[in-house]
Formats: sequence, structure tokens, C-alpha cells
Amino acid sequence: MRFATFSHGGRRLVGQVAVDGRTITALDLPTGSGDRGMLSLIERVAAGGKIPGTTGAALALDSVQLEAPIPVPRRNLWCVGRNYHAHAKELSASVFKNNTADTTSWPIIFSKVPESVIGPTAAVVMPPAEVSTQIDYEAELTIVIGKGGRNIPREKAMSHVFGYTIINDVTARDVQIRHQQWDLGKSFDTFCPMGPWIVTADELNGSDTRVRCWVNGDLRQDALTTDLIFDLPSLIETCSRGITLYPGDLIATGTPSGVGMGMTPPRWLQAGDSVRIAIDGLGEIENRFVDA
Ligand code: MG
Repeated sequence: MRFATFSHGGRRLVGQVAVDGRTITALDLPTGSGDRGMLSLIERVAAGGKIPGTTGAALALDSVQLEAPIPVPRRNLWCVGRNYHAHAKELSASVFKNNTADTTSWPIIFSKVPESVIGPTAAVVMPPAEVSTQIDYEAELTIVIGKGGRNIPREKAMSHVFGYTIINDVTARDVQIRHQQWDLGKSFDTFCPMGPWIVTADELNGSDTRVRCWVNGDLRQDALTTDLIFDLPSLIETCSRGITLYPGDLIATGTPSGVGMGMTPPRWLQAGDSVRIAIDGLGEIENRFVDA
């Protein structure tokens, strides 16, 4: 099933997208629980509740405004660095140059603040040049945690997945590189486009799907999640070591090769550019980059 957060008639609602992808029908949730988007529904299901039925008429998908499935995550998104072999290689002389950690045994984990999240077609606002001149895209399959837990072993990890969504882990490379820690360069306002919805785990095998990204129609990234260095169960196991994961937590699984920084010379995003990300079995998001 595909569940989306959308606005219609001045209200934020949660709905189920029809199989043909043309319509969406609101779920029969308590009044106001749509304000947090899918978060309320995920918490309800994680607590043992059922997914409610739909209510009201089916609405044409192009007559509503899709929002990020979780418009404001309850806390920072977990993100994984260097998780495709080819991407690790393309950035070995830049982002990963001074990294001496044992990255073959343990993944790189950083986070993005919740307020960086925007919808699947919303504009990404470029910072002024004195803040950053090196804006880059990163297409990523993102795990949506269902049932929470701490110290989740990899054998049980997939039973904690509610579903999947897409994010663009937009990055200010100059800011990322000059600090010891990546959160600043990853967390600018509007730097986390998300959507178009959440596909439940029973409908998509996140461990075997295709991630692609186009800039102004040019294919830049194209990889299979079977090429992940650390697989989905490993990432859930890692992020839950000593830390309780909650329903609705998000783990962005890393980006394939083909980012702007990996090109010679690097090609940074400019105002007016459009970045489209598609994941097979999930859908696509497309965001235009604009000046402030
Ligand atoms: Mg990333």
C-alpha cells in the first residue's frame, strides 16, 4: 500500500493512493491527527492498531498537494555516508580523504535536522554564496521504522520496517568538508526533499530495487540497492545500538555514485536546476533549486 500526506481544502490529511496511482482517498483518522502526517498512522500501527479504512471521495492525485509523508520528523533523520562501493571511490579524494575510521566494519552515520524536510515537489532554496557555493544532490532510499526498539539484531531488523520513502540528501559540500561533522552541511533549510509517499514493506523489497537521479533530465545516478556496502538490516542494527528507535524514525541508506562532486571538474547545482529521483516500486520526487 502507498500512503501519502497531502493538503486539500486547507487541511493536511493522510490518504491511501490507488493502485493505478491516479487518485488518493483520505483515511478515517481522528480529526487533527493528519497534522503530523504519516507519523500518527505509523505510531498507531506500531502500537498494535489497524490501518483505518478510507473516508470520503477519491480525489484526483493532481488535484491535491502532496507533502512530505512525515512533514516534521520527531527528531533528526539518521543518514548513512559512503554506502555504495562506487560512490566511496568517487569521493575518496575529497569528502572521505581524512577519514581514518574503520569504515569497512562500521558505517558512517550522521544526521539531518527535522526542519530541513520539504515536500516531493517543493523548491529547494539555495543559500547565498557566502554560506555555500557547492550544492550537491544525493538520491537515497529511506527506511521508515514501524515498531520501535533498542539493540535490534539484524535477524529481526526487517520486522521493524514500516515501509520506504525517497529523500534527496541535499548537501553543501564546502560546509560538509570543513567541519569534522557533517550535520551542518546536510541540514540547511529545505535540504531534505521527501516523498512522494511511503510504500509499505510488504510491497517493496528495499534490499533489491533501483535508485536513479536526473539533473535537468540528464541521468546522473543509477544503482541497485543490492550494491549497498552495509545492507538494510545492518543499518537498523547499527542505529539501534544503545539508542531506542521510535515509530516513524527515518534512516536514509546512502547515495550511489554520480554526485556532482564526483565529476571532473565538479558540477554544482545552480538556481533553476531541477533534480528528479526515482526508485523502482516507490515513485519519484522532483525539486527545483531556486535562489532565496
Ligand atoms: Mg547522503
